[in-house]
Amino acid sequence: MKLRFAPSPTGFLHVGGARTAIFNLLHARRHGGIMALRIEDTDVERSKQHHADQILASLKWLGCEWDEGPIYQSDRLDRYRERVEELVSKGLAYRCYCSVDDLEAERRAAEEKGEAFRYPGRCRTRTDEPAGQPSAVRIKVPPEAIEFDDLIRGHVRFEAEQIDDFVLLRSDGNPTYHLSVVVDDVDMGITHVARGDDHLSNTPKHVVLFRAFGVEPPTFAHLPLILGSDKKRLSKRTGATSTEEYQKMGILPQALFNFLMLLGWAPGGDREIISRDDATAIFDLSDVNKSAAVFDAEKLAWVNGQYLMAMSAAEIHPHLAEFLPEAPVLDAKLEKLLELYKIRSRTLVELAAQVRDYYISDTAVTYEDEAVKKHLKGDDLATRMRDLRETLAGDAAFTIESTEAAVRALGEAKGLGAGKYIHPLRVALVGRVSSPPIFDVAVGLGRNSTLARLDELIRRIDAGNLAPQVL
Ligand code: GLU
Repeated sequence: MKLRFAPSPTGFLHVGGARTAIFNLLHARRHGGIMALRIEDTDVERSKQHHADQILASLKWLGCEWDEGPIYQSDRLDRYRERVEELVSKGLAYRCYCSVDDLEAERRAAEEKGEAFRYPGRCRTRTDEPAGQPSAVRIKVPPEAIEFDDLIRGHVRFEAEQIDDFVLLRSDGNPTYHLSVVVDDVDMGITHVARGDDHLSNTPKHVVLFRAFGVEPPTFAHLPLILGSDKKRLSKRTGATSTEEYQKMGILPQALFNFLMLLGWAPGGDREIISRDDATAIFDLSDVNKSAAVFDAEKLAWVNGQYLMAMSAAEIHPHLAEFLPEAPVLDAKLEKLLELYKIRSRTLVELAAQVRDYYISDTAVTYEDEAVKKHLKGDDLATRMRDLRETLAGDAAFTIESTEAAVRALGEAKGLGAGKYIHPLRVALVGRVSSPPIFDVAVGLGRNSTLARLDELIRRIDAGNLAPQVL
């Protein structure tokens, strides 16, 4: 068994393309087959090497490896021409001298009548070969209906009238997509083709071409469309569509893999979190749904959060490094922080934003407006904060338990609720209304930073300006 992923390098790796790659890979791995990668870059105008490089990088990041390739179609132009000549000499294809302008006029005329244009096969029976006139090569499509069994869509039938003598080689000598894809699938020995539903109308043409080459067509599996939250085809309108954008948003590759895998396939038992290994043991293209799948970005964030929660700090850190350059080394402090915050973050960006609070200078904490309004009020605020500072400075042990006990005792001694100290303390330490348990935060920061941040709060209260001092 041999499968392939065959992206066109005309842009980034679309999440739909990534899902196609994943489904091909899982089916290959499940059945002990080979996974090949082919770059379909025959469209010279739109194909760019930097797009190909970006696609390869995204596939690697996602954990979609391949066993063979990448094979570039642009390296195989001679091979496509050679195979076309073979078909011409066998009488299975013919040169077409119709001008582009004439064909265009016929297409417009058909459209005006509300009909689909089909090439009438004018040059099929032509015997002359006008010298010096450019010619394309067309296949002679047989007069029978084309039928095949799709692993996902079941039996598919196209009537003969739906398929005209399509072009294989353009008059400039460049192959069409139909030609290059079939020549390659034959040469590479591809047994299964899983690709987007949008290719379904191309498939009867490919079947015709496989047969012209005397080869049984591979087994096809046309994957259902991916819809955006507006139930229309997934597009930029409703959110990010490239794999790279999700990477930049702080989605883990294994979480994106898990999420994309479930767009059209379900492992059973309402399971939402499934590792690649577990999926590999049970995945089969024939179990993919026919109906379109909806891309729910909220669910992706949830899946990502589940992965973060289940990972150790050591597992998370390599993924976090680019989001948190302040903390390049996983030391005991960072390890504690990651454990504290991983359950409170859905993305690496969120995680980094919270952990960063511990790496900034003690005088640079920004207080959220909401936090200021809610917790930095009362005429006695400065007094309370001075008492709090003194209390914490006097706590020699400085553990989660000892700091909490000390602050609660202070509240009791002053006849005030502990919240009068705890909430402003949170603002002093991280600038936010919410955080992990505040004594965990204080101990995570350590005594020096905790006291320095309280000093900074007191300074700002005295100065009547709660914004960080611009130096
Ligand atoms: N290159 C085509 C695409 O990017 C895929 C063709 C195929 O898988 O057969 O849509």
